[in-house]
Amino acid sequence: MKRFQCTNCGQIIEVPRGTPKPVKCPKCGASAMMIHRLNKGSPRGRRRRGGGPPEQ
Ligand SMILES: [Zn+2]
Repeated sequence: MKRFQCTNCGQIIEVPRGTPKPVKCPKCGASAMMIHRLNKGSPRGRRRRGGGPPEQ
């Protein structure tokens, strides 16, 4: 499952893999602009150890 979150209402939207990003929030109807992918298990970006230098 891929997870998205509506930044307008905070709704978590889960869609099966292979399904495109939702075009709008099912809860508040916000457009896709307000829906952002939640990084889940991303190899980069989740490993912040104490404010080191950003990846180059
Ligand atoms: Zn919403």
